[in-house]
Amino acid sequence: MSDARSLTPQLPVLQLLIEGQWTDPVEGGTFPVTNPATGQRLCDAPSGTAADVDRAVKAARRAFESGPWSRMTGRERGRLVRKLADLLWERREEFALIESLNNGKTFRDAVRGDVAPGAGTLAYFADLAGGVLGEVLPVAGPFHTYCLKEPVGVVGAIVPWNYPTCLLCWKLGPALASGCTVVVKPSEYTPLTALKLGALALEAGFPPGVLNVVTGYGDPAGEALARHPDVDKISFTGSARTARRLMQASAGSNLKKLTLELGGKSPQVIFPDADFDRAVEACFWGIFGNKGETCNAGSRVLVHERAYDAFVPRLAERAKALRVGDPLDPSTEMGAQVSQRQLDIILGYIETGMKQGARVLAGGERDLEGEKSRGYFVKPTIFGDVKPEMRIAQEEIFGPVLSCLRFRDDAEALSIANGTPYGLAASLWTRDVARAHALARQVKSGVVWINCFNEFDDAAPFGGYKESGWGRDLSHHALEGYLQTKAVWTQLPSLP
Ligand code: NAD
Repeated sequence: MSDARSLTPQLPVLQLLIEGQWTDPVEGGTFPVTNPATGQRLCDAPSGTAADVDRAVKAARRAFESGPWSRMTGRERGRLVRKLADLLWERREEFALIESLNNGKTFRDAVRGDVAPGAGTLAYFADLAGGVLGEVLPVAGPFHTYCLKEPVGVVGAIVPWNYPTCLLCWKLGPALASGCTVVVKPSEYTPLTALKLGALALEAGFPPGVLNVVTGYGDPAGEALARHPDVDKISFTGSARTARRLMQASAGSNLKKLTLELGGKSPQVIFPDADFDRAVEACFWGIFGNKGETCNAGSRVLVHERAYDAFVPRLAERAKALRVGDPLDPSTEMGAQVSQRQLDIILGYIETGMKQGARVLAGGERDLEGEKSRGYFVKPTIFGDVKPEMRIAQEEIFGPVLSCLRFRDDAEALSIANGTPYGLAASLWTRDVARAHALARQVKSGVVWINCFNEFDDAAPFGGYKESGWGRDLSHHALEGYLQTKAVWTQLPSLP
């Protein structure tokens, strides 16, 4: 991996991408894009409104119904998606540099945790594109009856700021492989890599209108996409608050389908027989990786009362030694929070934790040392003596703040683990395999890791139970979300 400080940032074309053309927003507005490590403006991005969304949806509709895309086979589409994957992989450092400058994550995290996995996901779905299968149905009577799997149509992909490239690829891979066309609305905090990916799609040779990018604020740009009567599906990753608005928009327009990947309050449960060395590392990076701005961050560590006093101080010592600083410096382990707003939210939760009686074991404040005072840095924070009902144990903080709780037995561990509105991920640390598998069935979350954490593979589905969302990203389960099923009946002549 290169030293990011020796690379020159390549900003994208700062226009909207509609029907294969770069174009200014109808109303001509822009919004500022900031570097969270310095608080300085990086550039201004085009601020799309309902009129631009409408142009992009019409382009996507034309491409879906009558453009070359509509006549391509799955294998031909797969070849284009593969080309896009290869181009992204070749330019992973160029993309990661922009991601790091715009999001505040370390360059290393941007390459390994965001851009490279995004390219991998595109490649995975490229391979699935030619293999979408229907089935012949064993109906009663003289009929030949089969199921066709068809693309749902025009998809609005609304993505957040924490993994801007990777999460966009989680949507684009299955959408394009299944034959849908897409209008992308990236987060207003991190709009740059979506525009760069749009340019790669042109380079790869995608027909006009298949992939459109409209940057802009959630309201009006995202809202217009969600309310548009000719969008067939919204694939969304973001907050539960926005998800509720999307449901209302769907209900108030054409009942468009929704996939919702929302937040989490993932527990890591540590039993006394756990491998402590590995569990400490996993709990540590589970919350401080990507500066805690990860939907499945292990933001609660539940430790058995016999293990608590040996385990938690080790985490705290590790947190005090974490190197926070310039995201481009290869020695930095944790960068800046994405925005002033996110910084304020995190500091607010830290204050609430203290007021509600949790004990600060590490961090607990903004990091204002030296150059860091210009940006949005937080000291890695660990709270001990957290009670399940405290707000820092219930609500998603989306920052480098870990809550440590004690439990007495399996029943109490389960009750605390399941005792939030969320259900995205969980991990269980014990050498007792039978106990781990028994508990895995009782944990209410879309992913359970046993003696590991944060393992991802394109072949494994990811998504939530409860208020963590509906539908799945990744794997063939995600592809299903972009397909609909048609039953075709043919009357057969009676046999003599
Ligand atoms: P957000 O909901 O504010 O924004 C997400 C996207 O929705 C952005 O593109 C935003 O512009 C858009 N948006 C906002 N208001 C809208 C509206 N009224 N209509 C349509 N679109 C609108 O969330 P965020 O602050 O960007 O992201 C952080 C949240 O996302 C966290 O809660 C986190 O847990 C969650 N998240 C979940 C996953 C997952 O896979 N489950 C992954 C990443 C983030």
